[in-house]
Amino acid sequence: MSIAMVFQKPNGGRLGVADAALDIMLSYRQQGPTDTEAGGVLIGRFIRDSDDVIVDIATQPMPGDRRRRTSFYRSKRAHQEAIDEAWRTSNGTHTYLGEWHTHPEPNPSPSMTDLQDWRKRIRRDTFHGDTLHFLIVGQNEVGAWEMRGGLYLPYFRPQAIRMQRTPEGED
Ligand SMILES: [Zn+2]
Repeated sequence: MSIAMVFQKPNGGRLGVADAALDIMLSYRQQGPTDTEAGGVLIGRFIRDSDDVIVDIATQPMPGDRRRRTSFYRSKRAHQEAIDEAWRTSNGTHTYLGEWHTHPEPNPSPSMTDLQDWRKRIRRDTFHGDTLHFLIVGQNEVGAWEMRGGLYLPYFRPQAIRMQRTPEGED
C-alpha cells in the first residue's frame, strides 16, 4: 500500500489517502459534459502514536444513491454495510473517517448544501476522534476539508477548514 496524497490537518497530523482509495475516486471524475456526481464514504485508520489518519478505502456509488449532474445523495444503508464490513475484517482498526464526492468544476469548493450536509454528519454520525474529513474530487484538483465536532449546542455551527496538500506522496 502506498500513499498517493497527503493533506495537513489544521490542528496537527496529516490525512493520507492510499493509492487504491484515490484511484477509485479519480475514476469518477466528471470529465464528460453529462457525467453525474458520485460519492461514498472514507474508511481508514488512525496511526498509533501520531495524529495521522490514513484513508484506505473509498466506497463507490451503490444502488439507492441518487446521482445528478450537480448533486449526489448517498443512501445510508449500503455504505454503512461497507463500514461495518471493513471494521470486522480489519479487527476493529478500519473505521469511518468521512465522505467524498465529485464536482463538475476544476477546483472544487463545497456548496451550501455540502456544508449543511457535513454539519449534519458531524451532529448525527458516530465516529472516532474529533473530526470528520471531506474530499471533493474536481476535474483537476482534489480538495480536502476537515470539520470538528464535539460541541453539541444548538447554536454551534462547525466550520469546514480547508486542508493544504503537502508535497508528500506520489502523483
Ligand atoms: Zn458538493
